[in-house]
Amino acid sequence: MFAHHCTACDRRMLIFPGQILSVREHEDGLAYQLECWCGAEQTMIEPLLSEAPVERSAADRRDAARVA
Ligand SMILES: [Zn+2]
Repeated sequence: MFAHHCTACDRRMLIFPGQILSVREHEDGLAYQLECWCGAEQTMIEPLLSEAPVERSAADRRDAARVA
């Protein structure tokens, strides 16, 4: 489950697994084809998670060092 900003109804909606029509590989990660609650088909690019946790934890360490 994740949040997606729909370009058709211009709302940020929660998308459930049942609304995902297909998942494809994309140069920037994974491309989810999904159907919004309003019925519009949307594509969302999700960056691959393999890099994100490293960047996030490094940023957390910087923030913690600044506070301390
Ligand atoms: Zn929508």
